[in-house]
Amino acid sequence: MEYLNKEVILKSYPQGIPQDQDFQILDTKVSDALNPGEVLIKNLFMSVDPYMRGRMTGRRSYVDPFPLGEALTGGAVGRVIASQRADLPVGSLVNHFSGWRNYFVAANDRSDLKKLPEISGLTPEIWLGTLGMPGMTAYVGLLKIANLKSNQRVFVSGAAGAVGMLVGQIAKIKGCYVVGSCGSDEKASYLKDELGFDQVINYKKAPIRDQLAKVAGEGFDVYFDNIGGDHLEAALDFMKDFGHIAACGAISQYNATKSVAGPANLMQIVAKRLTVSGFIVSDHSELHDEFVRDMSGWLREGLIKDRTTMFYGIDQAVSAFRGLFLGENTGKALVNLEN
Ligand code: NDP
Repeated sequence: MEYLNKEVILKSYPQGIPQDQDFQILDTKVSDALNPGEVLIKNLFMSVDPYMRGRMTGRRSYVDPFPLGEALTGGAVGRVIASQRADLPVGSLVNHFSGWRNYFVAANDRSDLKKLPEISGLTPEIWLGTLGMPGMTAYVGLLKIANLKSNQRVFVSGAAGAVGMLVGQIAKIKGCYVVGSCGSDEKASYLKDELGFDQVINYKKAPIRDQLAKVAGEGFDVYFDNIGGDHLEAALDFMKDFGHIAACGAISQYNATKSVAGPANLMQIVAKRLTVSGFIVSDHSELHDEFVRDMSGWLREGLIKDRTTMFYGIDQAVSAFRGLFLGENTGKALVNLEN
């Protein structure tokens, strides 16, 4: 049997915010006539993530650029619908890196292909968000990189996004005072009223530094930086001595078409004896089992709320991705490929 497949091809490296013409949706066919060791997978959900923008520049950062003219890749969950592998029978739920398409055949040497447990009460897509890479990023960045301790004062930027929302919630579990920043009043209300953030700033309403000055109080022990630029500069001014900054990302700069101004106050790192640590989540896989155990426990106990912004169909994948840079998502942005 043959399945009609669509996959998203990168046609050109975007200049500024990615546009539809940088991509092409290609119609292909995928057959269930498998060789030994192969499985046929139908994707159920695919992830769009800010780091993918860094792979669309033609320059290597910490991962290679996407090649032009080929289908994009990224995290996804799918179901095995035909199998030549005893360990992955038909019906298995799997996590892998062949997103941006509906169907694909995986050979048996695919190291990214992992069978997922079916846990009652948990939806398959949670493995792309709260129990997936964004959740692990929040967990590692806060607890290992920033060395968070109970009852500290935390500032997190990008607080209504996939990572930031979990950073704030984990910090609340640890008894911390949490200030977040985000780009709309609606997001700010959600973070305060539903997730228990102590203060939330809408950075679009007034300069971030002026707003942070009003809520910083005695200052912050930890800053979790998702945004960079003016947010990092403002945070440096309101850190406590010996504070920790987890440098997770700088999304404010990912679409820059010319060089960006750096924080003008890096001397604060010296004066306040700050520890500023960049990190990449994939370097910390030794914490993965501990993360899944803790995070699934917090979900079960209702201490963590999972939130996604869902787009429907592969035709919406580019819009979903672009939306990351326009503030269209609250929580994890995903594309539903079930139908
Ligand atoms: P998000 O779900 O937070 O989506 C992006 C959000 O960023 C948008 O919704 C928008 O929210 C905000 N944003 C977009 N452009 C700007 C801008 N110019 N200025 C301020 N805010 C902006 O993404 P993730 O949570 O998945 O990722 C957050 C950060 O973490 C990114 O920088 C990403 O690259 C990084 N990251 C790093 C990892 C690592 O291993 N180091 C792993 C995973 C992510 P708003 O409405 O609030 O503006």
